[in-house]
Amino acid sequence: MGFKLNGNGREWLVVLILAQFLIVFFLPDIRDYGQKFLRGIKSQSVGVSSQVLCVETEHFRVEYTKLDENDVYMVCASAEKALQALTEAGFPYTGEEKILLSIYPNTESLAESFGWERDEQAMGAYYDGKIGILAPTAWMGEEKNQLRFDREGPVLHELTHLIVDEMTEGHYNRWWTEGVAQYMEKKIYHFQMAPPEQIERFYSLEEMAQNFDRLQQRQVYWQALQAIEWMESMYSEDGLKAIMQEAAQEKDFYQGLKNVVGQDFADFQRNYENMMKIEWGTGCSVEKQPITH
Ligand SMILES: [Zn+2]
Repeated sequence: MGFKLNGNGREWLVVLILAQFLIVFFLPDIRDYGQKFLRGIKSQSVGVSSQVLCVETEHFRVEYTKLDENDVYMVCASAEKALQALTEAGFPYTGEEKILLSIYPNTESLAESFGWERDEQAMGAYYDGKIGILAPTAWMGEEKNQLRFDREGPVLHELTHLIVDEMTEGHYNRWWTEGVAQYMEKKIYHFQMAPPEQIERFYSLEEMAQNFDRLQQRQVYWQALQAIEWMESMYSEDGLKAIMQEAAQEKDFYQGLKNVVGQDFADFQRNYENMMKIEWGTGCSVEKQPITH
């Protein structure tokens, strides 16, 4: 597929590289996507004072300011590839509009645009139908490459948040969307964020729904993934999709959950906590964590 770079009229040819599992990368220490609901977006464009350039791919409208063109190319290729993979996995984007994706040159501009503190170190963000992505050069430097960006970068993760939002029509919570996003990263790119080293106690689903950003980040992301993998093992991916469809229909996530699993939230949460204790012990260390790459 080709797409046009409106900024200077150059044509790019996107070549998707399929041999993505040949190289094993070390996991980054922590990759906090910091999806901060309710804080609002101060600006929907990449920069207020800089000239915003735009490139359109088949499914995305990508905005950026002065950036290395290779960064723009890399993000565009990754976005189309992630969308195709999610579609093939049965989680398609069904909106008619092109998806708005902004690329930010550094973590400060990304944080500022999404209304966070400037010292937030997120690599990507999703809010209200819009995706923000940190430029590949900002965290990979000159060593940047497409395969690593696809796999370890934030594009697939943030795109999954958008699709969850769409499928549930906004009726979901943080542990659900963070769990599904990581589930997709693991399924499609065999990538998993670093697990927690120590666990004092397991968080409840309720705590994770209410206070996701204030809990220990490695642990809360990891627990969200455990929740989704546990549910997938019982209800399959069709069950995950059914919960989202029911949530949209009921306009209530927990009612949607109940319709599919046949338990109210209190029972469901108790079962989750029991599963965590059986699978991982009562806390202390996560010795059974499989090595992922
Ligand atoms: Zn996320």
